[in-house]
Amino acid sequence: MCIFCDICEGKIPSKKVYEDDLVLAFDDINPVAPVHTLVVPKKHFDDIIDLSSNDDGTYLKACMNAVTKVCEEKKLEQGFRVINNCRENGAQSVMHVHFHIIGGLKLSEKML
Ligand code: AMP
Repeated sequence: MCIFCDICEGKIPSKKVYEDDLVLAFDDINPVAPVHTLVVPKKHFDDIIDLSSNDDGTYLKACMNAVTKVCEEKKLEQGFRVINNCRENGAQSVMHVHFHIIGGLKLSEKML
């Protein structure tokens, strides 16, 4: 069972921001900034290594296209941050690859 697969299949509700055949973007349930949206491929990949190893580029490109769509929808033209947490040391808690889009404020240069 994968919570993000369930969200992509509509079994669990989400606040949808953008959707196409390959990708769903929805607001994070526990936002850390005024804008905190997750971009998720509809096909299950455990993490970014799985995605980059086992996708021919189709889903990765679709995710990056969705980043642009979320940027437009959320009016983030002044900038934002895209984060991928990978595996245990990267603090990944949901094992279905996703990209956090964080914005709506002036972010610090500090990464930690
Ligand atoms: P990560 O720690 O990078 O794996 O991020 C997982 C993110 O998924 C966290 O920011 C959670 O708040 C978010 N999350 C978990 N369950 C849900 C849900 N049902 N709807 C929206 N966001 C969720």
